[in-house]
Amino acid sequence: ALELHDVSHAYEKLLAVDHVSLHVNEGEVICLLGPSGCGKSTMLRLAAGLEALQQGRVVMQGQTIADGAARLSVPPERRGVGLVFQDFALFPHLSVRRNVGFGLTELEPARRDRRIAEVLDQVDMADYATAFPHALSGGQQQRIALARALAPQPAVLLLDEPFSGLDARLREQIRDETLHVLKRSRTATLMVTHDPEEAMFMADRIYLMQSGRVVQSGSPDALYHRPVSPFVARFFSNTN
Ligand code: ATP
Ligand code: MG
Repeated sequence: ALELHDVSHAYEKLLAVDHVSLHVNEGEVICLLGPSGCGKSTMLRLAAGLEALQQGRVVMQGQTIADGAARLSVPPERRGVGLVFQDFALFPHLSVRRNVGFGLTELEPARRDRRIAEVLDQVDMADYATAFPHALSGGQQQRIALARALAPQPAVLLLDEPFSGLDARLREQIRDETLHVLKRSRTATLMVTHDPEEAMFMADRIYLMQSGRVVQSGSPDALYHRPVSPFVARFFSNTN
């Protein structure tokens, strides 16, 4: 599980994240939702360790891995998180197999190959092991990025707008498939999106942000039917 306690982050004078707390339990998909610029990606970067924590604490599996006051920060590669960001960023010079196996260097070759085959199968890309990224469609690349993130069996998966590069029809299909894979993996998933419909579909719980703060959190149903402010109500009614 992942917990962020009272985290804040300023870029020079701009307070991008302002005293936010959240938690994600094993097997849960949690959506961080809100308009452009509200601080969603900054939150993920803080959880991943890609941004130094200025204030607050990040706790993973009960261990404090970052503490603003104590200036403690476990580096990203040692946090046991899987990352999938907007632009997928597969290594263009590596085959699908080697992309997916990238985080598995500690496994002996036979076990690594087995794990690669397993996750490729999970995302329905078993036939593409020897292909290179440029020969894949956007949706296929997205699935490979997900497979690569899942391969080391991270306790926590961080997804930043993972479907944004896809057209509407493909987005729906891959969203369904991804949710299925996540639910079977038992990973704690924190996913950023600006799309309320996507959050309604994917999330067990939603944290809705506005200007660096969480304005409401709860089940999709609660936010939709019992908004605590006009901002929340408008956010869910505007965009469909
Ligand atoms: P979007 O939906 O557009 O991706 P977001 O909710 O992910 O937005 P962030 O990327 O977290 O928003 O940015 C929050 C605020 O911090 C914005 O006002 C943004 O301009 C600012 N910001 C983000 N990164 C930096 C940076 N590296 N340097 C300075 N300001 C930044
Ligand atoms: Mg963002």
